[in-house]
Amino acid sequence: MHGRKALVLALILAAAAQAGQVSGASALELTRQVVEFGPRTPGSAASRKLQSFIVQKLKESGWQAIEDPFTAQTPAGRVAMKNIIGLKKGSGSAALAVSGHYDTKRFPFRFVGANDAGSSTGLLLELARAMKDESFSHDIYLVFFDGEEAFGEWSDQDSLYGSRHLAAKWRADGTLARLKALINVDMIGDRDLKIVHEAYSSEPLRRLVWQIAAELGHGAHFLSQPFAIEDDHVPFLRNGVRALNLIDFEYGPDHSWWHTKEDTMDKLSPKSLEIVGRVVHEALRRLSR
Ligand SMILES: [Zn+2]
Repeated sequence: MHGRKALVLALILAAAAQAGQVSGASALELTRQVVEFGPRTPGSAASRKLQSFIVQKLKESGWQAIEDPFTAQTPAGRVAMKNIIGLKKGSGSAALAVSGHYDTKRFPFRFVGANDAGSSTGLLLELARAMKDESFSHDIYLVFFDGEEAFGEWSDQDSLYGSRHLAAKWRADGTLARLKALINVDMIGDRDLKIVHEAYSSEPLRRLVWQIAAELGHGAHFLSQPFAIEDDHVPFLRNGVRALNLIDFEYGPDHSWWHTKEDTMDKLSPKSLEIVGRVVHEALRRLSR
C-alpha cells in the first residue's frame, strides 16, 4: 500500500490515537508535519516556524512551554538558537526529563532529516499528547534541543550547543540537583529499529529501560553490544546527572542514509516510534514512583 490510501489510513489512525498511550501513527504524523517545514538549521526561518509549532502543540496538550533562547559561537559565526521545554508540574520536588534535538544539520544539499531529527521531535510531541491527562509525582520536562549538530567537523566546541547551554543553565538555577534522570532520544524512527547499548549512558538507567523493553515484548530491538556515541545526554552526564541515550545508529545499508538526502519519511515506521515511545513512557511512570 502506498500513496493516498496510506496517507488517509495514517491520518485516520493518528486521529484515533488515545490519551494515555503513545501511538506510532500519531507520532509519525507529527514527524511528517515537522519535516514539512523543510531543513531546520539553527537560526533559519524554518527553525523559527518549527519553534512556534512545538510551543503550540505543547500548549494544546496542556503543558507549560518554556522558551530558552541563547546565542551560540559557531564556526559560521554567532547564531541565535532556542531550546523549547515542555513542563508538567508534579506533586513533589524531583524532576525527570525526556529530550531530543529538533535542528537539522547544515548541508549544501537539501537535507530534510526525517529521522535526524524529525523522529525525536515528533516522538516528544506525541509523548506530550499521550501524557496530557496523566499526573506524576515528579516534574516532567520534555526538552527540544536546538543546535545538536556540528556546523563543521564534530568537536567539543562545535556540537551539542543546546544541551551544553541547558545543562549549564540548569546547574546554575538548581534544576539539575532535582533531576533524577534524563532520557535522550535520537534517530528512533528507522523501520529497522536497533537501539544501541550506548556506552557513556548511566548503566542502572539503561538496565531499567532494557528491562521495560523486554517486559513489553520489544527486547529484540534493544542491542546488548556496548557502543559509545556522543549526544545531547553527555553534557548532563558530565554534570553528574543519570542520563541515557536511546539511538539507532545503523540507518540504511552500511548506515548510508545518515546525513544524506536519503533521510526521508519513507524510511520511517510508526511501529519503531511506538516501541520507543511506549518504553520511555513506562520508564517515566516507574522513575516517578
Ligand atoms: Zn545528525
